[in-house]
Amino acid sequence: MPTAISELTTMRLGGPAREFAVATTSDELVALVRDADASGTPVLLIGGGSNLVVGDQGFDGLVVKVETSGVRVDGNSMSVAAGERWDTVVATSLSEGLAGLEALSGIPGLAGATPVQNVGAYGTVTSDVLDSLTVYDRETGTTEVWTPDRCGFGLHRQSVFKHSTRYVILDTTMSLRRSRSSDPVRYAGLAERLGVTVGDTVAAAEVREAVLDLRGQKGMVLDAEDHDTWSVGSFFLNPVLTKVPATASRAPQYPDPSGIKIHAAWLIQNAGFAHGYGTDFGNGTVSLSTKHVLAITNRGGATTADVMALASHIRDGVQAEFGITLVPECDLVGCSLN
Ligand SMILES: Cc1cc2nc3c(=O)[nH]c(=O)nc-3n(C[C@H](O)[C@H](O)[C@H](O)COP(=O)(O)OP(=O)(O)OC[C@H]3O[C@@H](n4cnc5c(N)ncnc54)[C@H](O)[C@@H]3O)c2cc1C
Repeated sequence: MPTAISELTTMRLGGPAREFAVATTSDELVALVRDADASGTPVLLIGGGSNLVVGDQGFDGLVVKVETSGVRVDGNSMSVAAGERWDTVVATSLSEGLAGLEALSGIPGLAGATPVQNVGAYGTVTSDVLDSLTVYDRETGTTEVWTPDRCGFGLHRQSVFKHSTRYVILDTTMSLRRSRSSDPVRYAGLAERLGVTVGDTVAAAEVREAVLDLRGQKGMVLDAEDHDTWSVGSFFLNPVLTKVPATASRAPQYPDPSGIKIHAAWLIQNAGFAHGYGTDFGNGTVSLSTKHVLAITNRGGATTADVMALASHIRDGVQAEFGITLVPECDLVGCSLN
């Protein structure tokens, strides 16, 4: 049974877990967390470990690997256990003749974590399709079915679950469309790849193929052989600002409910950090992906301290150039930027 957290995360980082357990049913998951809470043992839930960076000293508590299973399709509704692999859920929805998830193809991790940062890609976010979710509340010791309005999905990559250990998501139910046609294509790069205009619809399966292809080109589909994918995807959030400084006025910008969202990748690149940057930094075990500057990658043999050093260096470079402070998108447990 693995106790090295590095074996459970896509960055292959993290020291030992003091205790380790696998939950294969929702009841088991709740019981493990409830018992740990009763004995005052800290708990770290791990799904696919694709948005998590854990310190080199490991986790002084119980690590619970979520491996619950179950998919149920009922009309337009699809319910999935937290431990189901997300991309399998997307593929299953399409083979069941349900559309709506196609743009979320290829995102690593498990279904239970998708509401945590309201996972999104190519113009679709989880909250677009989420109908309800079952949540165990560690503070009250109760299990409840929630509607999405309780999840705090207003801001980019945020929810009440993000950076909180209070809730355990046990399953999610999504409301999809019974159709072989995709949702309207919302993202210019995807429309271009498909040879259509934004707003057009095509076969949902075609969108899935195009998304997998585009993601693969950016190292955004897991591939154990490719160190560009030994990452947490985007390491930094796209900053949302009330006013864009003149120095960053050429950065791609989008309206956001709380201001103007600008591309972190543009800021990083224009602060002088190119694809692959980092091989001459520190001991060279960590670098930006050679395909996408927003991904910090383990080139083999890296420690979490190495990742924190490069991430801090990138944040400081962007701060010096543009006066904008990048903030990590991933969850940092037992580690922080310098
Ligand atoms: C190559 C790559 C590409 C990526 N592309 C995208 C992308 O396009 N869009 C995007 O939004 N994200 C992307 N990500 C980030 C990541 O895949 C998502 O955030 C994913 O939802 C994380 O799922 P996970 O199961 O791996 O979560 P983990 O990393 O295991 O956990 C993340 C956090 O959620 C908590 N958690 C896990 N399961 C539960 C649960 N059942 N209940 C409560 N809390 C839980 C954990 O404790 C942790 O705090 C990418 C990552 C990689 C490596």
